[in-house]
Amino acid sequence: MDAKLICTNCDEVYEQETKTFRCTKCDEPLELELVTNAKINEGNVLEQNILGRYSEFYPYLDNNVDISLGEGFTSLIKSNFLTNKIGIKGVYFKNEGENPTWSFKDRGTITGVTRAINLGFKGIGTVSTGNMAASVSAYGAKAKIDTIILVKEEIADEKLKPIAVYGSKLVKVRGDYGKLYLESIKLGYENGFYFINSDSPFRVEGYKTIAFEIFEQLNHNIPDYVIVPTSAGGDIRGIEKGFRELKACGLTEKAPKIIAVQAAGCAPIATAFKNGREKIERFSNPHTIAHAIENPYPPSGNQVLRMIKKNGGIAVDVDDDEIINAQKLLAEEGIFGQPASVTSLAALIKLKEEKYLLEDDIVVNIVTASGLKFTSALDKHDLNAITIDIDNLKDIIKKEE
Ligand SMILES: *Cc1c(COP(=O)(O)O)cnc(C)c1O
Ligand SMILES: [Zn+2]
Repeated sequence: MDAKLICTNCDEVYEQETKTFRCTKCDEPLELELVTNAKINEGNVLEQNILGRYSEFYPYLDNNVDISLGEGFTSLIKSNFLTNKIGIKGVYFKNEGENPTWSFKDRGTITGVTRAINLGFKGIGTVSTGNMAASVSAYGAKAKIDTIILVKEEIADEKLKPIAVYGSKLVKVRGDYGKLYLESIKLGYENGFYFINSDSPFRVEGYKTIAFEIFEQLNHNIPDYVIVPTSAGGDIRGIEKGFRELKACGLTEKAPKIIAVQAAGCAPIATAFKNGREKIERFSNPHTIAHAIENPYPPSGNQVLRMIKKNGGIAVDVDDDEIINAQKLLAEEGIFGQPASVTSLAALIKLKEEKYLLEDDIVVNIVTASGLKFTSALDKHDLNAITIDIDNLKDIIKKEE
């Protein structure tokens, strides 16, 4: 079965994706039509991959391409420590740092690459500053398909090398990033390279699996809120669509409220939401430690605003100090997330203080990527070790009186 794509703004229907993956009438992002008749497959999760277990939610993908690297099926960890400390009934962390390239991007990369192969493309590509580039490189390697990665010229070595290791064609590009996003998709489509950028429809589809897993991990219950670190808007759109499909398929009666969180130093969506606007404006002079969510003009920004309005959720921002505090606090619970990915916890704390979140709420925080991917953020923490002589070991390892 082939997919119909529907404009998220004007409802125009397309039989196939357009060359830019956007509506040719209003230039807003397209979305795969809603799946309304599916169930979760049974069977042994230890021998399934996400596209196998949730195959009925992907009627338009031929999953016989065998490029899984074991993405998804990440832990949902309940924090009793933070449940008590923050005073909320259920605080959960969905730890996306457990993915093959240590971020949730892998879930959307496998659906995107599968689509590319289904369509007969011989190459793939992406435009990214880090996590998505590493993810597409890894799956390009696994699929043995030509892979082009376009990055900003000023990218740090710490981020470049983990992309380069997979052997893709890595190109630093000078110029406007927003233009690069559109041009790469269009030029790629015309020249045999399927670009799987931040919010392309088949990438967004992969992110639905986060919702399916949360539903299963909560024993077929739905949380009250899900908090999602948001940049381009792909992840949050996929998660919301996943919950909407569970409801449309009659598997649940309710859907969670979705909270978009951005860094105050680059918050085009949260700012528009606060001001009651329907359209985002380009954020000038973005600057935050949360580099992975530093997109000043998110391609799905307007759609995130529309979606949140319908869903009943909100968009908020948190500043760098709140982010660093949250990183520390989450590490005290044993989870090390990179700055962008702990904005969800920072928002949780803030929204409880502001009494938006209440004592009885069940809240899932998406921890989008591992802290090891961006270790220079550790300079902001006070981290010390002491040095001793081995003969003094007994002074250190001793029972407290
Ligand atoms: C990509 C990314 C995000 C934002 O996801 P979008 O789909 O661009 O909204 C958040 N956190 C991390 C760590 C990411 O890599
Ligand atoms: Zn449209």
